[in-house]
Amino acid sequence: MQREDFLLMKRLVDLPCVRFGDLNDIEQRAILAATSIRHMAYSPYFKYKVGVAVVSVTDKIYTGVNVENCAAVVPHAEWNALSEMVKNGERQFKVLVCVAQNGGIPCSICRQFMREFSGDNLEEVVVIGVGQQGGDIIRCAFADIIGVDSFSPRSLGVNPLEH
Ligand SMILES: [Zn+2]
Repeated sequence: MQREDFLLMKRLVDLPCVRFGDLNDIEQRAILAATSIRHMAYSPYFKYKVGVAVVSVTDKIYTGVNVENCAAVVPHAEWNALSEMVKNGERQFKVLVCVAQNGGIPCSICRQFMREFSGDNLEEVVVIGVGQQGGDIIRCAFADIIGVDSFSPRSLGVNPLEH
């Protein structure tokens, strides 16, 4: 990632930066998983490859990449990683790492998708954005980017853990 891009992103979102060594073991492993899977993204149109790793509440790591198609309905990497978690019988994550060329903070659509499986303690759910070179890392609470009054499964009387 270009330094200027990172500074622009930081100024826009004002989220805290950390160093890799400051993160705990599972967060570091999730970053390595997301970074190593990113090259598998299928992105011939936007040419914007994204790798995501989610850590479930049972400390398992699931990964996903974006998979574009010519009809422009693009499953984002976050959806694919969370779908992988769901496919394996889990319904809640505690950390999501997104690696992309400009820092990888999940888009608004993905934030809503994440809200489905975040549980309700949004201050405890960690979101980590990593730039292409891996040198600049943003770490924040999910509450910082979704809002504590966000629309959620509970809004419709659903508890994902029961389904
Ligand atoms: Zn997205």
